[in-house]
Amino acid sequence: MGKTALVCGAGGFIGSHLVSRLKKEGFWVRGVDLKFSEFSETDADDFVIGDLRDQNVCDRIVDQAFDEVYQLAADMGGSGYIFTGEHDADIMHNSATINLNIADRCFKRNIKRIFYSSSACIYPQYNQEDPGNPNCEEKSAYPAAPDSEYGWEKLFSERLFLAYNRNHNMSNRVARYHNIFGPKGTWQGGKEKVPAAVCRKIALASNDGEIEIWGDGLQTRSFLYIDECLEGTIRLTRSNFEGPVNIGSDEMVTINQLVDIVSDIAGKKLHKNHISGPIGVRGRNSDNRLIEEKLGWKPSQTLTKGLEKTYAWIEQQIHRNNN
Ligand code: NAD
Repeated sequence: MGKTALVCGAGGFIGSHLVSRLKKEGFWVRGVDLKFSEFSETDADDFVIGDLRDQNVCDRIVDQAFDEVYQLAADMGGSGYIFTGEHDADIMHNSATINLNIADRCFKRNIKRIFYSSSACIYPQYNQEDPGNPNCEEKSAYPAAPDSEYGWEKLFSERLFLAYNRNHNMSNRVARYHNIFGPKGTWQGGKEKVPAAVCRKIALASNDGEIEIWGDGLQTRSFLYIDECLEGTIRLTRSNFEGPVNIGSDEMVTINQLVDIVSDIAGKKLHKNHISGPIGVRGRNSDNRLIEEKLGWKPSQTLTKGLEKTYAWIEQQIHRNNN
């Protein structure tokens, strides 16, 4: 029999792409989520609609010794969801419950390895105040001071999966994703993240029009294209390095620069209107030294290339909605 994989959060952005990638590799794949992907039919062999906060659901889906388990399910969104404070209790309760359930069910089913997607949001705020020189080296995570409850839950769950490694002889793998983007990601409705929001705003703007940007636009970030994220995820899962390790791009740009790149792709000249809004830390960039050292790999595609594909897809979604 061929290899089998379980993808938790398979209806989400990264999960749905991961299912397709694993299918291409010949895996039999079970996906689980509260919902199907909004943007495409799933490629999974078996797709269970279920709530991973429910232990009975977890018992049902972890019913065989999967070769690979990817735990991506989380209550999350962009800064409009994470940083306002209005969803803190839900974010912490929902995501922690999912992680507690999955870690324990897999352990009891004698599954040795779970991939867990943590986030750059675990890094301390005090190291990310200089937009030109943020520190996101893996070991800088402590003393801990994430700037959101989302980050605190991720840090707790990183520790949970690594504690199962130490006490229960598991080989879980922990990655810290930095701003993943690409086609089939949420692009409207409040849970979308910066690249998708900027692409949407620019696609909808008329030439010589205006684009609203939260903050002064001088805050820095890096963005990783989905295909690179999947490559890093799979390499880490199959490696003998447990992490935590950054999976991100180190091509840092200001939000104003991001807007300029997308404006160029769209062929539009726009006036930037800076308004107040939730923006998170001043600067953040992936530090890729550890992943390069441990896996001999780091992402290589330029930001512009990924944005071209993402912009084209969002433009298509807008046309589809209008027709
Ligand atoms: P996403 O929101 O598109 O996917 C998460 C999925 O989890 C959703 O489809 C959601 O329905 C599902 N889910 C939530 N609660 C559930 C529950 N109780 N039971 C079953 N399913 C449930 O997010 P994504 O961008 O695909 O991110 C995947 C993972 O990577 C998440 O853990 C996220 O925190 C992490 N991450 C993502 C990024 C990024 O830039 N996209 C950055 C850092 C970390």
